[in-house]
Amino acid sequence: MAEMLASYVAGTWYTAPDEGVLAVDASTGDPVARVSSTGLNTLAVVDHARRVGGPALRRLTFQERAAALKALATHLDGRKHAYYELSTATGATKRDSAVDIDGGIATMFAFSGMGKRELPDGYVLADGDEVQMGKEGTFVGRHVYTALPGTALQINAFNFPVWGMLEKLAPAVLAGVPSIVKPATQTAYLTAAVFRDIIASGVLPDGAVQLVCGGLGDLLDHLGGEDVIAFTGSANTAAVVRGNAAVTARAARFNAETDSLNCSILGPDAVPGTEEFDLFVKEVAREMTVKAGQKCTAIRRAFVPRPVVDDFVTALQTRLAKVVVGNPRNDAVTMGALVSLRQRDEVRGALRALGRAAQIVSGDPEKVEPLDADPQRGAFMAPTLLVSTDTDRSEPHEVEAFGPVSTVIAYETPDDVVDLAARGNGSLVGSIVSHDPDFVRHIVLATAPHHGRLLVLDRDCAAESTGHGTPMPQMVHGGPGRAGGGEELGGVRAVKHYMQRTALQGSPAAIAAVVGAG
Ligand code: NAP
Repeated sequence: MAEMLASYVAGTWYTAPDEGVLAVDASTGDPVARVSSTGLNTLAVVDHARRVGGPALRRLTFQERAAALKALATHLDGRKHAYYELSTATGATKRDSAVDIDGGIATMFAFSGMGKRELPDGYVLADGDEVQMGKEGTFVGRHVYTALPGTALQINAFNFPVWGMLEKLAPAVLAGVPSIVKPATQTAYLTAAVFRDIIASGVLPDGAVQLVCGGLGDLLDHLGGEDVIAFTGSANTAAVVRGNAAVTARAARFNAETDSLNCSILGPDAVPGTEEFDLFVKEVAREMTVKAGQKCTAIRRAFVPRPVVDDFVTALQTRLAKVVVGNPRNDAVTMGALVSLRQRDEVRGALRALGRAAQIVSGDPEKVEPLDADPQRGAFMAPTLLVSTDTDRSEPHEVEAFGPVSTVIAYETPDDVVDLAARGNGSLVGSIVSHDPDFVRHIVLATAPHHGRLLVLDRDCAAESTGHGTPMPQMVHGGPGRAGGGEELGGVRAVKHYMQRTALQGSPAAIAAVVGAG
């Protein structure tokens, strides 16, 4: 029987006594691990975080926490070959694993660097300048941030088992708040492997980080106003967690990163033959195939000026035809498997819904010949491109096919594409591929309120651009509406999500004693 993953609670490893849920290899269907939290003492987890982990972290200054992050990232970096090996079981190619593993470790390094450069060698973070509130200057105010005394429950999605954990953990550590990591069951074995190394490193104080493999049971019942719930996953699960009394009655902070129907817009100037046209084709192809399209930031809607739709589709079909789907253990494979057969069924279901508004022009979602793999046992799917046939229908703007799927939608005018983009009801990211500053300005001003992040891609930045789909630690990740209405990353802003802002009022000397002491 596959090994049961242990949770790490109150300073010890806990292994559930039942059979749990089986996590299988995405390409072969072979068992990888079993996952269960049955019998876990959830109150002990929360208590340990609050009584042991939090105080220990907060005895360190921001600078000391930043140094700890650097030591931890260095430790994990030295062990990453083992994570790469395990990552193939999730269906990931080397390129996919790099996004998750190196991306996660790089994010931790980045937070260490930002902490070192931007945070004081103390415990209090000032927000803005001192404000004089009395005529004589004896009464002033200043906003200050202090660490929340509770815990940060970090619920992650299956698609980024390493990055998802590290990008939430790093700012919480910097803030001085202990974390309870809850990975998605399907890929928890990879998170658990990295987590074991975090504990073995001995870098973080006892209780600073705990792991719950399996369901959360009644853990939310123990959370309230001192705590943070940072959620990444589907909009449906986000709604369930958001509706828990921990959030609705006891005002635990809740941040959601959910799915969205991200768009990329090709400018009318970017006709075939321009660099921007080629960049757009490359970007859409990449977003469809990295992680087999299982990215919350992937381009689901490609808006193209009507006169160039045929050229674009032909260019993209040519690119997609070169994609080699199969077992990621074979180096010739360029796109691996979806995480599970269930996930593939869900994508096929979403494609049936999309089929009411669009026609498939590349890929057969029901059939693919994977390299070095059995199509019955592995969750393989061909990259599938659709072209909208009825722009009035809502499906392309509402149905997320969380796989290698994108829909091309023609637009007539800049105002037309602004309206189409807005029909996604809020997205994590959008991109505008154009070298026309007037078009770019018009589209950015009209679409920014619907997006957490916008990339303007052109010939001038292409060589250094990190691309449409990559959230950067320095920049905000999150989006309004459908995307969950939350925000994470974004430099030191992310640290503040785990802290309380207080308007401190008093004499200049009293305020200086607090902030200066920090
Ligand atoms: P999911 O099914 O919503 O699960 C997300 C997490 O929530 C998992 O850890 C899951 O644990 C947990 N969960 C499930 N039910 C819960 C409950 N009642 N209470 C507390 N936690 C619960 O999502 P997924 O299938 O893992 O991920 C795919 C989705 O996530 C896609 O829609 C994608 O767009 C979105 N996503 C968003 C982002 C972003 O940054 N915005 C990033 C990645 C993915 P179990 O696995 O144990 O059920």
